[in-house]
Amino acid sequence: MTQPIDLRSDTVTRPTAAMRAAIAAAEVGDDVFGDDPTVNALQERVAAMLGFEAALFVTSGTQGNLSALMAHCQRGEEFVVGQSAHIYRYEAGGSAVLGSLAPCPIQNRPDGTIALEDIEAAIKPDDPHFAATRLLCLENTLGGKVLPLPYLEAATALARRHGLATHLDGARLFNAAVKSGVAPREITKHFDSVSVCFSKGLGAPAGSMLCGRRDFIARAHRVRKMLGGALRQAGVLAAAANHALDHHVERLAEDHANAARLAEGLRDLPGVRVEPPQTNMVFVELSRERAHGVVERLRGRGLLCTGLYQLRLVTHLDVSRDDIERAITILRETL
Ligand SMILES: *Cc1c(COP(=O)(O)O)cnc(C)c1O
Repeated sequence: MTQPIDLRSDTVTRPTAAMRAAIAAAEVGDDVFGDDPTVNALQERVAAMLGFEAALFVTSGTQGNLSALMAHCQRGEEFVVGQSAHIYRYEAGGSAVLGSLAPCPIQNRPDGTIALEDIEAAIKPDDPHFAATRLLCLENTLGGKVLPLPYLEAATALARRHGLATHLDGARLFNAAVKSGVAPREITKHFDSVSVCFSKGLGAPAGSMLCGRRDFIARAHRVRKMLGGALRQAGVLAAAANHALDHHVERLAEDHANAARLAEGLRDLPGVRVEPPQTNMVFVELSRERAHGVVERLRGRGLLCTGLYQLRLVTHLDVSRDDIERAITILRETL
């Protein structure tokens, strides 16, 4: 049997031969001593690229986000975040468990934004009854959707007017930038901090970067140590991330085109609803009858995806246009 087509996530990519060569050639040192030249160079590169004073290489997006939350907020303080945000929903409640922080989750609208009036209403007055609201967290892309630049400007300006800091979970920042046709810093310039993942669409095996002001990064550095994220010869990972920035950013447009083709190929199927995707994620809504056991049946035909009544299909570096055509055939026959 041929290799299954794996559309479960853009995290399933394997390092390319060229990336493995970059890893093999990496100069390394002990990063806990600040001695790893490849890590240091990557931190400087990403800080400059995204318009920040400093950056910190972390093991994962989750660690980058939690380090940011704990560097922005003190124990007992609160952050405002979308109900659908990864930070709130998919990070095992780490902000509460490990940071003693109170999330204030508010509804995301279908386009991924949070209404400005909802943000404003969530910010507490200075009163001992309330946890002090310190931070607004946004995510871009969220569920594959790109938050509009004017929205980012307005939401972060609102936060600043109320004395809140702002953090962007930019796990898929580069998808948003490529889709919008802007430099990534046009998105990040509105925020006090940002975390980006190298292990999603960029195709590196591990690693994320947290960026911010120098004093913020110094605090996050201590948190990273506390969270067990201080690595030694981490240059082998930084080399992969560096290679990804050189070779895997512009090509995200291919993933977006593949996602669009996939959605288009399913559009006219009865009992199925597919929105045209903005980036690399296609969501297929199924009626209850159609949904029954469908993920298992697709797996049996060599197509991997996730979901229940809504299938999630994610395009990435290891999925070709031919794979997409084959996936459309399998989906049409199965659904
Ligand atoms: C994947 C993801 C993260 C967390 O990244 P890990 O490296 O899996 O910890 C954070 N935010 C978003 C939006 C993500 O998609």
